[in-house]
Amino acid sequence: MDLISRAGWQAPAWAGSPAVVPLSSRRDFFVHWYGSPPSIDRGPGLVRAVDRMHRGQGWAGVGYNFVVDQDGRVWEGRGWNRQGAHCPGHNVSGIGVLVAVGKGGPSATPEALTAVRDLYDEACRRTGRALDMRGHRDGIATECPGGELYAWVRAGMPRPGGGAATHTVEPDQTMWSISQQHGVDLDALRAANPKVREDRIFPDDVLTIPKAGAPAPKPPAPKPTPPARPVVSLARLVQAARVDPPKRGTPVSYSPTRVVEDALAKEGLLTRSLVDGHFGTATVSAYAAWQRRLGYRGRDADGIPGRASLNALAKKYGFTTTN
Ligand SMILES: [Zn+2]
Repeated sequence: MDLISRAGWQAPAWAGSPAVVPLSSRRDFFVHWYGSPPSIDRGPGLVRAVDRMHRGQGWAGVGYNFVVDQDGRVWEGRGWNRQGAHCPGHNVSGIGVLVAVGKGGPSATPEALTAVRDLYDEACRRTGRALDMRGHRDGIATECPGGELYAWVRAGMPRPGGGAATHTVEPDQTMWSISQQHGVDLDALRAANPKVREDRIFPDDVLTIPKAGAPAPKPPAPKPTPPARPVVSLARLVQAARVDPPKRGTPVSYSPTRVVEDALAKEGLLTRSLVDGHFGTATVSAYAAWQRRLGYRGRDADGIPGRASLNALAKKYGFTTTN
């Protein structure tokens, strides 16, 4: 935050002595506008003009605690610790900030809004409490700070660039028509206003408008589908167990044999290097050991897969069996 002290802009001495207000008395943060568009909306000339104007009204000098210009620079007026002269009845509890815009003139720049927000955050830090965000019209009957600035205050003074213009709902508007008006994606608008129920928007509700072209929120990622369980046909496995062993080399007659071999290897019955899809003699021996481990003996443990032993292996190692 670029804050220029009174000394920094060579403020004239107070005409009088504004009361000192402890930070503990501050409750509210009031935003004001200039009224009509200021002829000088940035630089020390702005705060000097306000100071002259307020002295002309018989006040001690600039009545706002701070003046924010369109370049986003902050000029110290009453500062953090002096009673302001900006909103009768609220000059002790409220910190008043002028934004250099007026009716029919340019909108507050992103730099200006950012500076106001910085001031607000700093005020909360110094007071140790979340000050109420208010427009002048919340304290007294006045147009100040204008509809646009007031809507921004009501929306929680969102930082520009954080996706955050605002829109005050007009009669008969819907989320869809508002999204069309601002050229933003309907889903992005919904995402920017999570507390808004679409069937319950009313005139004067303030919506946050995401940046045009802001991507819609991504739908939740689909749950990863678990890899398909391998399927082993008992009949084809038995066929492999009968025809593979006599063959030369290690031809693969039924590739899911590898699934069974992998299970046998994990069971500690087959050397990992022999997991090759070829149902050779080593695989037959390993399978026979699996059968014995299940309690089978004799011809029931001959290394030729049977339904019960294969299902037991499938259950333990996560594959599916078919006939
Ligand atoms: Zn005001």
